[in-house]
Amino acid sequence: MLKLDNHLSGRHFLHIPGPSPVPSRVLRSISYQTIDHRGPEFGVFGLQVLEGIKKIFQTKQPVMIYSASGTGSWEGALVNVLNPGDHVLFYETGHFANLWRTLGQRLGLNVEVVGKPGQDTWRWGVDAAVIEERLMKDTQHAIKAVCVVHNETSTGVTSNIAAVRKAIDAANHPALLIVDSVSGLGSADYRHDDWGVDVTVSGSQKGLMLPPGIGFNALSARAIEVSKTNKSFKSYWAWDEILESNKTGYWPTTPSTNLMYGLHEAMDMMMTEGLETIFARHQRLAAACRHAVDAWGLENQSQDQDCCSPVLTCIKVPEGMDADKLRKHALEKFNLSLGTGLGKIKGKAFRIGHLGDCNELSLMAALSGVEMSLGAMGYKPKASGVVAAQEFLK
Ligand SMILES: *Cc1c(COP(=O)(O)O)cnc(C)c1O
Repeated sequence: MLKLDNHLSGRHFLHIPGPSPVPSRVLRSISYQTIDHRGPEFGVFGLQVLEGIKKIFQTKQPVMIYSASGTGSWEGALVNVLNPGDHVLFYETGHFANLWRTLGQRLGLNVEVVGKPGQDTWRWGVDAAVIEERLMKDTQHAIKAVCVVHNETSTGVTSNIAAVRKAIDAANHPALLIVDSVSGLGSADYRHDDWGVDVTVSGSQKGLMLPPGIGFNALSARAIEVSKTNKSFKSYWAWDEILESNKTGYWPTTPSTNLMYGLHEAMDMMMTEGLETIFARHQRLAAACRHAVDAWGLENQSQDQDCCSPVLTCIKVPEGMDADKLRKHALEKFNLSLGTGLGKIKGKAFRIGHLGDCNELSLMAALSGVEMSLGAMGYKPKASGVVAAQEFLK
């Protein structure tokens, strides 16, 4: 166990944008005794989980449940529908888009990167017009897929996926639409079927309020069709055997039985609260957080007013301040974990997660810790962000 020699009283404020806090109901369900994953009880349970997860993706189509982190599910998506050498368009929104693209390169894909023209693409949502224009030029249909990140966790920008689908259709192009909603699912509105997504990649430890360890691929009829003639070497990630086993509520390999108890419980909680209510709660907390940022006189990494993430807020620190020093102070002094700046904004920004099992007062605690830590760094805020957020929330 961690910190056996340094007990910290009170609760830990985990405000990184994933893993997010796991509700005690979910923790308790994970601690039920492990059962036979080939036994009769598990098949009934497996079918319930496979049906339940479709509601979260807002799909009627099959969802793969992997024992993996989000990265494994990225790989699962690519190796089932793309062949080595395939030309694939990746839209750069930030660090996670870049990591996914690098993974694609390692799998032998011929990767092309696009972004927001004339701007720092890490501060904007996906510009669907860029995708439409590029696909229009591809008259030979060499591009096999378009990969975009729904909620870019490194920058706090949520992109309009319906607009990307429209762009692909407007260009009359057959490219598959593959979307990463690892940190969006369960927190930001996400509609796999309505938005015509072919494969959605997700994971357990962000909006679904679970520990890390489960990954997902939501499929489309077209993606399944394409996967049948796919030539990539794959075994663990292959959809065919999983789809077959899933028909009776089982998996070809040992699934994460206990994490799946947690998933069942978390989905039950989410359906009780209602997806619309959950999305509205996240929007409201994110708006409160942005009021605080404005009051402090700091800049949001997202310059895109329409695309500020309901999941997290990425905040640029003033010139000369080290964001990781501020984070260190918040952790050591207030037992508050904030997200680090990733990739090219390391040290220049920090992130506040307000996702999953989060409410007004947990956000207020985080904002209070940030405000005190900003003061400790010698920064004099324009006004109190805590008061501004309270005014908004009351
Ligand atoms: C967390 C995250 C991932 C990676 O997931 P791991 O579980 O760390 O492998 C991928 N994409 C996005 C947008 C994420 O937030």
